[in-house]
Amino acid sequence: MSSKVEDVFEFDEAIAAFDPVMGLEVHVELNTNSKMFCGCPTEFGGDPNTHVCPVCLGLPGALPVVNGKAVESAIRIGLALNCEIAEWCRFARKNYFYPDMPKNFQTSQYDEPICFNGYLDVDVETEEGMKKFRVEIERAHMEEDTGKASHQGGATGRIHGADYSLLDYNRAGIPLIEIVTKPIVGAGKFAPEVARAYVSALRDLLRALGVSDVRMEQGSLRCDVNLSLRKTPKDKFGTRTETKNVNSLRSVERAVRYEITRQASAIDAGKTIIQETRHWHEDTGVTTSGRVKEEAEDYRYFPEPDLVPIAPSREWVEELRKTLPENPSLRKNRLQAEWGITDHDMASVINAGALDLVLATIDAGVDQNGARKWWLGELARLAKEMSIELIDLPITAQHLSQVEKLIADGKLNDKLARVVIEAVINGEGDVDSIIEKRGLAVVSDDSSLLNAIDEALAASPDIAAKIKEGKLQAAGAIVGAVMKTTKGQADAAKVRALLFEKLGVTEDLA
Ligand code: ADP
Ligand code: MG
Ligand code: ZN
Repeated sequence: MSSKVEDVFEFDEAIAAFDPVMGLEVHVELNTNSKMFCGCPTEFGGDPNTHVCPVCLGLPGALPVVNGKAVESAIRIGLALNCEIAEWCRFARKNYFYPDMPKNFQTSQYDEPICFNGYLDVDVETEEGMKKFRVEIERAHMEEDTGKASHQGGATGRIHGADYSLLDYNRAGIPLIEIVTKPIVGAGKFAPEVARAYVSALRDLLRALGVSDVRMEQGSLRCDVNLSLRKTPKDKFGTRTETKNVNSLRSVERAVRYEITRQASAIDAGKTIIQETRHWHEDTGVTTSGRVKEEAEDYRYFPEPDLVPIAPSREWVEELRKTLPENPSLRKNRLQAEWGITDHDMASVINAGALDLVLATIDAGVDQNGARKWWLGELARLAKEMSIELIDLPITAQHLSQVEKLIADGKLNDKLARVVIEAVINGEGDVDSIIEKRGLAVVSDDSSLLNAIDEALAASPDIAAKIKEGKLQAAGAIVGAVMKTTKGQADAAKVRALLFEKLGVTEDLA
């Protein structure tokens, strides 16, 4: 690894000199049928400004009504995150002007969040094996999403340099839960992994709760990364930057790593870190300066007068507690024991965001070993190549089970199976039609294999004699030659059997 380029620290050097402190803010779009305060649909897409009404457009005189299902989801999320649930809380108006927010305030929660003081435990692999980090949750509160502005005519899609902007309010008013961690300290050099493991675990939990699509690339789960450095863990916190909308698990890890090296280099060069929002650039892997936020912005928060307070009864909260999915760490331990795999192998599954995918694949009839191998091997490779998450690969557990069955029946070998899977992902159709169109099936019909065997024997006449003398390992050369002429599509076991039969030897003769 190259040493310093000018004053740019390597990650290890940065960690040797500074102690990182992180804070993660995650916004989750709920999958309720209707918006937070009106009956408009929440479906993704739709022609611009067709999922709107006087309430979510903020027209004068329109009155909001709270979506009960969203409150229920908020409480279930809070319970799953080991939070306390407020006995009484209110919405608040967060006042600011921005064109994607038609009311000129966002209905949110301020000093009275519905859920507070929780935690989520995550596992991170260290030199001394798996280590548990407890990420403490400050609050999880309810709010509404904004609309979407798209800036036209500029090169970057940013407002700077644009000729005009288009506004779509379909998303305005979609229920959001914002989950904010307390400052995460003590992660040290594992800060990037802890951040990723947290968002990954949170996503799995939300998916298990069934409250959101949790699709990072569609924006239904968005993460902001706050990060600061201090000299030692005894010092008070340094100034933080807030990197916005980091939209994949890999980016969360990279953004933390990048900010640590950037801030360390800046401090080392005598610069001061300013409190600002920064933008994450997926392509170049850097953050750039955004809005300076030196003072807390004055949002003139005040309690929302048009909505009644929320006072969830303890009976209701206890009813909802009963609907929680199995605790993630117990579930992890249970599955690990069932599968009989090591901590390391289990962590690989979880940190790849593959647990649910592996489970679905097992449900579809593939054994756990095969399921893990697909998701952590070939599919992980393809997802990385395409820069997408595993879950976004256009392939289903059914595809995998079909392919596995074809392997078991000797109709595909491993190599052909990988070709088929890659073709499914490239959108070439379903498994059967790909095999048919590309002529990928394993060749196992006797006559074409026998032809290939004859050719191979003719090419190396001494081998037949050796095999007849009982030197069965010599058969490898013939099987290899047949595989070559059939472009890898021969059923190797079958070739071997036919060869021995032809030469009149039996395998157990050796
Ligand atoms: P804001 O409204 O500015 O986004 P929040 O309080 O909502 O502020 O969230 C800030 C996040 O950053 C929280 O997760 C918090 O724990 C974390 N945080 C606060 N101070 C620091 C700091 N000095 N360094 C790193 N993270 C911090
Ligand atoms: Mg915030
Ligand atoms: Zn509406």
